Amino acid sequence: MYIGRFAPSPTGLLHAGSLVAALASWLDARAHGGRWLIRIEDIDTPRCVPTATDLILRQLAACGLTPDEPPACQSRRGARYQRALDQLTAAGWAYPCACSRQRIEAEQAARGLRRERGVELPYPGTCRPERGGLRGQPARAWRLHTGQAPSSRIDWQDRRLGAQSQDVKHAVGDFVLRRADGLWAYQLAVVVDDAAQGVTHVVRGEDLADNTPRQILLQRALGAPTPSYLHTPLVLAADGRKLSKQNDARAVDVSDPIAALTQAAATLGLPAPAGHPNIGALLAYWSAAWRVLWPAADAISPSQP
Ligand SMILES: [Zn+2]
Repeated sequence: MYIGRFAPSPTGLLHAGSLVAALASWLDARAHGGRWLIRIEDIDTPRCVPTATDLILRQLAACGLTPDEPPACQSRRGARYQRALDQLTAAGWAYPCACSRQRIEAEQAARGLRRERGVELPYPGTCRPERGGLRGQPARAWRLHTGQAPSSRIDWQDRRLGAQSQDVKHAVGDFVLRRADGLWAYQLAVVVDDAAQGVTHVVRGEDLADNTPRQILLQRALGAPTPSYLHTPLVLAADGRKLSKQNDARAVDVSDPIAALTQAAATLGLPAPAGHPNIGALLAYWSAAWRVLWPAADAISPSQP
């Protein structure tokens, strides 16, 4: 059974890049006889725009991309995330951290590590239980203990990018599961929800590919299966940078959904059909083309503790 999902953050309307990811995940599900879910990733509540969820769902519906179940919202799933964090803590996979950003940077500097622009240095492990834990200070955040894994090197296969590898301990270190401001971290919410919703195939933008090793490590820590992954090409802004809500990417104009879909399909390497088909015929045409381009992926891998 194939279950796929599209998981937008309601921080604004869908732009050309997010429509590419939505169309790709919809086509992959349809091409392989699966179900397609929408999950609203609204855990970063200060960044969310109250009206955006409805508007995004309307944009998708205008493009013929309707989910097989009512959308789920992460903001209502805090109890699940807390249970997962409790499970990880009980198993030694998670620990509380008292460090402020300044303290982390001071420790990194003391070790001769200098932060490069745009690159986070790994957390130095100051509050790991084996190094003395919180030492009486209040917990701010919760982190994953990457040292708990027999190996923190994650090898994975992306259907489009091919063989990928990252040593999570060295590349990102003990990453945050619950933030100092009390909000749930993206990595934990995604992994818990994919497992709870039975997601077997993740199809999303390539800008999210570098989260995958952390998510696979978390799946193993939680005993959850690892889905198959396909990361789609990004739509670049005129200046060559990634298109994002941060650089004011324009919202997809759904007054002409066929034009918007045709542009998204071109990014995915799908041809424009001859004539003037309606949305249903267009999507059916691309589903058939998709099946040839991206044959059914392997079944999901069982959890490897
Ligand atoms: Zn700490």
